[in-house]
Amino acid sequence: MNERDTLKINLAGHLEIGGCDCVDLAEKFGTPLYVFDEKYIRDMMRIYKNTIDGEYGGNGLVLYASKAFSCKAVYKIAAQEGIGVDVVSGGELYTAISAGFPADKIYMHGNNKLDRELEYAVEVKVGTIVVDSYSEADILNDIAAKAGIVQNVLIRINPGVEAHTHAFVQTARTDSKFGFSISDGTAENITQHVLAKSNLKLKGYHCHIGSQIFEKQSFVLAVNKCMDFIAHIKNATGFEADTLNMGGGFGIWYTDEDAKINVEGYADYLKALLNAVKAKSKELGLKLPYVLIEPGRSIVGEAGITLYTVGAIKDIPGIKKYVAIDGGMFDNPRYALYQSKYSALIANRANEECTEKVTIAGKCCESGDIIAVDVPMPKAKRGDIIAVLSTGAYNYSMASNYNRNFVPACVLVKDGKANYIVKPQTYEELVRGDVVPDYLK
Ligand SMILES: *Cc1c(COP(=O)(O)O)cnc(C)c1O
Repeated sequence: MNERDTLKINLAGHLEIGGCDCVDLAEKFGTPLYVFDEKYIRDMMRIYKNTIDGEYGGNGLVLYASKAFSCKAVYKIAAQEGIGVDVVSGGELYTAISAGFPADKIYMHGNNKLDRELEYAVEVKVGTIVVDSYSEADILNDIAAKAGIVQNVLIRINPGVEAHTHAFVQTARTDSKFGFSISDGTAENITQHVLAKSNLKLKGYHCHIGSQIFEKQSFVLAVNKCMDFIAHIKNATGFEADTLNMGGGFGIWYTDEDAKINVEGYADYLKALLNAVKAKSKELGLKLPYVLIEPGRSIVGEAGITLYTVGAIKDIPGIKKYVAIDGGMFDNPRYALYQSKYSALIANRANEECTEKVTIAGKCCESGDIIAVDVPMPKAKRGDIIAVLSTGAYNYSMASNYNRNFVPACVLVKDGKANYIVKPQTYEELVRGDVVPDYLK
């Protein structure tokens, strides 16, 4: 299990997070329930910020990749910690702006930003837009001209570094739908295209080589390729990029197959990246770029757990034992999407010895509706509270109302106190948009 101080087993033998007993949380707020540890989120934001301040003279900015977990409270926390955010849709942008997040510290991504999303971004004065297609550059230039502004932009490039992760979350390969490849000259061509736009100001480049990456060398390689590219563009066009955004991707612990990295360990990843930038700029005679990183998973992933209540238990002798919970793929689709692995325990009997391996199944009408396979557990019974760990990233944000189940509420815990940050849904909410046309009445 996790070693940090806010997730522990208390004297009652119950799992505790942020000083709150998980059994009490389940009773007070109901299950399924997403629980987020505020201290962990802040600690992670701080370690990245402090590393850029301490190791790189503050010449950069940490952007929280808010697609990992987007709600007003998390943007408030990011604002209080003095970091920026990236958003990938009008909806995330709206949420950030509604939370009062400073627009100049918002970066907007997306391989197919809609015209109305670009218009909205310009209207609320988003600091930087990361251009990812020719047509986007054309349309954004027109929108900026109409608004009478010059919009800061980065170009998403593809350094062609393969990070060792699940193929579905690899994005930096040349066949990716994201970015322009350095190797085939398209990154240079789009650079020329953007430089020719009078209402776009090209600040530099962005790349994101994948997710759940554990090798420092992947980031170092990507930095080297990007810096070589910046030098090449400087020679070829005279344009020297002053911003380099290296994206996110730092891995987290889900099961003991993954490394358990502590706060200082994440600082080491960032130091390796920053040192590579420094070494390369010296080697190539480039000025030190303003460096951005965009961690999402590593900030909120291990900060979150999901609490469920055990219902039906089905033992198929000699084959499998299913423990069904009151959630499923509607609150965590990651097993169904990527066969992601999770660790889980019985929160109300957290000290008990594990005597069997079970498959935790959801309540949806899909046989692929699984949360975790072969999880060691004490003998579970109806009414037990199961905690699935490391569910803070890409769970709530990927949740749906499949089977018209409720997306669970989110609570933020700190120092023994728990508050809603996303309220529970209601049946009325589920049918709010439903319309029965007159001829059906
Ligand atoms: C998903 C994504 C991130 C965050 O990645 P993590 O693995 O969650 O750190 C950052 N930048 C971009 C462009 C992304 O698409």
